[in-house]
Amino acid sequence: NATIGILGGGQLGRMLSVAASRLGFKTHVFEPSAQPPAGHVADKVTTASYENAEALKAFAASVDVITYEFENVPTSALDLLESIKPIRPNRRALAVSQDRISEKEFLVDLGLKVAPFAAVDTAEDLDKAIAEIGTPAILKTRRFGYDGKGQSRIMAPVDAAKALEDVAGAPSVLEGFIDFTHEVSVIAARGQAGDVSCFDPGENVHINGILHTTTVPATLTSSQRMDAVLLAAKVLNALDYVGVMGVEIFVTKQGLVVNEIAPRVHNSGHWTQNGCVIDQFEQHIRAVAGWPLGDGKRHSNVEMLNLIGDDVDKIADYAKDGSVAIHMYGKSDVKAGRKMGHVNKITGAA
Ligand code: ATP
Ligand code: MG
Ligand code: MG
Repeated sequence: NATIGILGGGQLGRMLSVAASRLGFKTHVFEPSAQPPAGHVADKVTTASYENAEALKAFAASVDVITYEFENVPTSALDLLESIKPIRPNRRALAVSQDRISEKEFLVDLGLKVAPFAAVDTAEDLDKAIAEIGTPAILKTRRFGYDGKGQSRIMAPVDAAKALEDVAGAPSVLEGFIDFTHEVSVIAARGQAGDVSCFDPGENVHINGILHTTTVPATLTSSQRMDAVLLAAKVLNALDYVGVMGVEIFVTKQGLVVNEIAPRVHNSGHWTQNGCVIDQFEQHIRAVAGWPLGDGKRHSNVEMLNLIGDDVDKIADYAKDGSVAIHMYGKSDVKAGRKMGHVNKITGAA
């Protein structure tokens, strides 16, 4: 059996491991922190830092192909791994999406709309950016942000100093606030032959910068739905991408604006586990293993709800509802803001 190497052992790595085992692969997860969610399901786990060259070499030697569940793997580790085994999706997808500015420049070059933005390294940069872009705006760190972390809202120019404190001097980007009616995402996949398959766009609601629910079908006209899928396909093709990607989109009266892309399986694609025959995790494994892709067709309408922090206390109630599928991540300590699991409620046939 071929072995899939997965960088990162969080819930996404866990669900990728399950999908890979189901297809008959072995999995080997590389994760710096102890007792990761994927540890319970992977065939093998290496607990080591990305600075540990010997551990990285042994990991790469033990697998047939390397994929990842998060985009902030250090470049030095990727260089070493890639000299031993192929990494899918490729390095360019990672390089582009690790930095919010290179990501936006890439999207603009493709002819896609993004929020107005300007690089901010100093207080003077921020004043200038606010004068150009106006308020409300959001200051975001260029790198490492997720779940709304490393972001500060600037409702009026007077909030500038506080925003700079919030990002703690990290290289940042000021983004103009997009007046969206709602948010959607496309979970798109591209195979090794260049074939693209997209799941139906999901409608996302965030609370405090963290994804709360994803609902399919999303509120979109058929032309908006087509636009969303085509723009996602354009992104994947431009990167010669292999695997699943999440493309987050703001729906506005002036058209679709791309928020960000994630070169991996995505929280807003978890509904596919119970809404499609082949879900995003299996789709990703199929792509990186060179298998044919599923067609992305949806058989059910679904509402995915994230269980964050104390929400896990409601599990017993969800378990009583036969239309609800429960997905837990095996995390033992409950913390505020921590994603503990999710539920997929089937709301009807597609
Ligand atoms: P994740 O990677 O977990 O999705 P993140 O930390 O990268 O999150 P963003 O996607 O940049 O965060 O922002 C989180 C949410 O904040 C968005 O989904 C949207 O609701 C809101 N938001 C972010 N940027 C803007 C913007 N320019 N205009 C309006 N709303 C925004
Ligand atoms: Mg993000
Ligand atoms: Mg986001």
